[in-house]
Amino acid sequence: MSMSKTKVLIAGAGPTGLTLALWLTRLGVPVRIFDKAAAPGETSRALAVQARTLEFHRQIGIVDDVLAAGVRLERLTLHTPAGVAARLPLSDFGRGISLYSFAFALPQDIHERVLITHLERAGVEVERGTELVAFQDKGEAVIATLSRDGRPETVSAAYLAGCDGARSAVRHGLNIGFPGGTYEQSFYVADVKGSGEITPNGMDTTISSYG
Ligand SMILES: Cc1cc2nc3c(=O)[nH]c(=O)nc-3n(C[C@H](O)[C@H](O)[C@H](O)COP(=O)(O)OP(=O)(O)OC[C@H]3O[C@@H](n4cnc5c(N)ncnc54)[C@H](O)[C@@H]3O)c2cc1C
Repeated sequence: MSMSKTKVLIAGAGPTGLTLALWLTRLGVPVRIFDKAAAPGETSRALAVQARTLEFHRQIGIVDDVLAAGVRLERLTLHTPAGVAARLPLSDFGRGISLYSFAFALPQDIHERVLITHLERAGVEVERGTELVAFQDKGEAVIATLSRDGRPETVSAAYLAGCDGARSAVRHGLNIGFPGGTYEQSFYVADVKGSGEITPNGMDTTISSYG
């Protein structure tokens, strides 16, 4: 089996891996980024984008595209059966603290697409259908075994970045814990298109799938 070499090998092409790949590429560090999934995610997941994230995006020259892809939230209005209980202005609540003083929403799949587009413009393609199956820290290098559509490949890297999510193979391989708890309840999240109006008795909506 042949062994290829890279400076930084990034396992996982979610927002963490994609952002790391973009930053390192901007700094002139050679990277390879791969993901076991055959294609990028297609669901909204993390919707709110913090001002600090936008500040980092500005530093790598992608903030305008990110802002153009999302929605600035003007206000939050709390309705009760008795009427409007509260209005919370969100359009400039961080004035004087950040250039991005507003609440901002961008579905994670669209956010990832913006990151991927910029990464591709910088000459880096995410290697899809490629899974990290094992790795060994040899001191001067990390030797990683990847499986690409079932075909094994060995890569020698100066660094292996574990951006492989909640069940991270990198974290398990290094025996790094993941402290925290799990809620007993089940929660459901759905991407939907809604129509109708909010009435004093609740929300009168018809719902169709988002897409
Ligand atoms: C339904 C849902 C709703 C959510 N809502 C919110 C929200 O409202 N706000 C919020 O902040 N967060 C939310 N999250 C969490 C948010 O999506 C995650 O925090 C975020 O995706 C983490 O990004 P990441 O890049 O670290 O990991 P991930 O997005 O999980 O990406 C990890 C990537 O690594 C890949 N991978 C895993 N193992 C391997 C391997 N061995 N080899 C190669 N590739 C591998 C995976 O395919 C994946 O693409 C939600 C998540 C879900 C599922």
